[in-house]
Amino acid sequence: MSKIQMRTPLVEMDGDEMTRIIWKMIKDHLLTPYIDLKTEYYDLGLPSRDETDDQITVQAAEAVKKYGVGVKCATITPNAQRVTEYNLKKMYKSPNGTIRAILDGTVFRTPITLPCLKPSVRSWVKPITIARHAYGDIYKCTEYRVPGPGTAEILFKDADGKELFHETVFEFKCPGVLMGTYNKDDSIQSFARACFNYALATKQDLWFSAKDTISKKYDHTFKDIFQEIYDAEYKAKFEQAGITYFYTLIDDAVARVIRSEGGFIWACKNYDGDVMSDMVATAFGSLAMMTSVLVSPDGNYEYEAAHGTVTRHYYKHLEGESTSTNSMATLFAWTGALKKRGEMDNIPELVAFGEKLEQASLKCIEDGFMTKDLALLADMENKTVLSTEGFILKVKEYLDAAL
Ligand code: NAP
Ligand code: MG
Repeated sequence: MSKIQMRTPLVEMDGDEMTRIIWKMIKDHLLTPYIDLKTEYYDLGLPSRDETDDQITVQAAEAVKKYGVGVKCATITPNAQRVTEYNLKKMYKSPNGTIRAILDGTVFRTPITLPCLKPSVRSWVKPITIARHAYGDIYKCTEYRVPGPGTAEILFKDADGKELFHETVFEFKCPGVLMGTYNKDDSIQSFARACFNYALATKQDLWFSAKDTISKKYDHTFKDIFQEIYDAEYKAKFEQAGITYFYTLIDDAVARVIRSEGGFIWACKNYDGDVMSDMVATAFGSLAMMTSVLVSPDGNYEYEAAHGTVTRHYYKHLEGESTSTNSMATLFAWTGALKKRGEMDNIPELVAFGEKLEQASLKCIEDGFMTKDLALLADMENKTVLSTEGFILKVKEYLDAAL
């Protein structure tokens, strides 16, 4: 059998610890034997980031802009302990944060679902994708611990220094707390377009929720911007695709989500998305089955697993112990990227291969072959717990049978 040929490279961002090991196994066993894999390789492993003063991360993000599709392995975000462990020159910022700032994207998180993995919410039969606006609000706030009686004011001056707005927030009679947050129209517009585009690309309904009844300027602006962009740019396309967009209050959305059967995208403001994505992930079963894709407003895609580098398993691996780490989310990052590359470059064989590899891995689990984390969750009689590599090799058997 001849290997599938690629035209444009995929931006490959290698990472750290257990996921770096899984990364190589996936490539060696499941990809390079079948595809003439063309990637532009960036090593985002911590030693390489340290060597390049983190320039490698910036270069990788620029490459995603250039080629349109990237796939990223989980990476360590250094803290003080990591600085000692890796003898780092400094405490580098989160690579994901750096990449997100350059691509200006929205993060979509979707669980990989299977009939044997029963969500805690009984009505959910299809995945729910959370789209989180990853900019501003309380994540960029200015806050103050009020020590005692006094006046809190809000003041806005235009570029010429003229006061346009000046109001009292609260007359404190006792100690308290105070916070100022902001967002920008262009960031909200990018967020809206990323959501509309992703809904069209995946042919799913889009919900957006905020609290515009209480926040009549701040949240209402989000609601208005979504509606204006929808009406002007997406309404016709949505109708043609047979999907819908609707806005509802966040508390109504929560109730509807729980009663729903899934199968839609839920766009959330930054904080709501932070909280709700953890709730949805947990209710669907496992962080190890959560995929994540960063979509930029100009149509660049970066795929990754939602979980980290699985440090605890890596230390066991270093001690020579056998591990049973789940490679599904990392595998789906690769298949997502390959399918997108195939779609953009019009290579149907590449899209079909990505599809078959996903199906092979799902069938493998449905037949009872899985890693330890899933064995604890799966609702079935006969389960075989495999090692990290054992699972990948089993998927290969299923893939070979399907090709
Ligand atoms: P983690 O790597 O996601 O792992 C937390 C725990 O979740 C693991 O110890 C394991 O539980 C379970 N788990 C996660 N993924 C799994 C998988 N594929 N298979 C089986 N079990 C899995 O989070 P962390 O330990 O908090 O962070 C480790 C490192 O990852 C940190 O340095 C952090 O900076 C980095 N991180 C990177 C990203 C990213 O690159 N996107 C995201 C988050 C964290 P058990 O130990 O109980 O088996
Ligand atoms: Mg969170």
